[in-house]
Amino acid sequence: MTEPTITQLEAMPGDWQRALAVVAHPDDLEYGCSAAIAAWTDEGREVAYVLATRGEAGIDTLAPTECGALREREQRASAAVVGVSEVEFLDHRDGVVEYGIPLRRDIAAAIRRYRPELVITLNHRDTWGGVAWNTPDHVAVGRATLDAAADAGNRWIFPELIEQGLEPWNGVRWVAVAGSTRPTHAVDASAGLERAVRSLLEHRTYIEALTDEDPETYVRGFLTGYAQATGERFGGRPAVAFELLGR
Ligand SMILES: [Zn+2]
Repeated sequence: MTEPTITQLEAMPGDWQRALAVVAHPDDLEYGCSAAIAAWTDEGREVAYVLATRGEAGIDTLAPTECGALREREQRASAAVVGVSEVEFLDHRDGVVEYGIPLRRDIAAAIRRYRPELVITLNHRDTWGGVAWNTPDHVAVGRATLDAAADAGNRWIFPELIEQGLEPWNGVRWVAVAGSTRPTHAVDASAGLERAVRSLLEHRTYIEALTDEDPETYVRGFLTGYAQATGERFGGRPAVAFELLGR
C-alpha cells in the first residue's frame, strides 16, 4: 500500500499592504488565525479588525451589558498583542446575527473605510468538517463578508454609503477564509505563535468560563496543536491555513 498523498498548502500571496479581518465575535481571530496576523504586522503590513458583535452572549454567568464591555476590552488588548490597533464593532446582536442587507451594508461600509487588498473572515460553511456544527453567527458573517467584498466596489448597490462619503473600493483582491474545511494556502506561524498564545490569553474571562483547565495550558495546547497539524501540509513548519478565494 502506498501512503495517501497529503495535498500541500501554497504560500499566501505577499503583494499586498492592507488587510481587514471581519468576524462575528471577540476571540474568532485568536482561535487559530492570529499567528499569521502577527507575522504580517511584523512585515509592516496594516491589519484592522471589524467584529459584528461584542460577544455579549458568550458567558453564561455574565449579563450581556456587562459582558459586552468586558469582551470589547479583552478584544482590544488581544489585537494589540499582534500589532493591530484598529478594532471596530458593528453592534449586531450576539447569537442572532442575521445574514441580510443590513449586515452586508455594514461590512461593505467597513471595507470602503479601510480599503484593504486582503479581506479575512472565518468559516462560513455549515460545519467545521465532519459533524461539528458551525454557529449561525459565523455562517452569516462569513457569507456576508464574501458578498460585501464585491458590494464595496459597486456604487449602485448601497447608494446611501456614497452619501456618507464612502466611495466604492474595488481593490479587494482576495478573501481568505480561516478555519475553512477546504484550505488552500498557509502562513508560517513560527514567529507569531508565542504572540498568538498571549493574544488568545487576553480573552481570559471568557476562557476561564469555558474551561476548568489552566488557561495558559489550554491555549498553548490548542494553538500549538492546530499549527503543527496544519504544518503537516506546509513543509513541516507550524502554520495557519486559509481558503483563499480570488476576486
Ligand atoms: Zn465565534
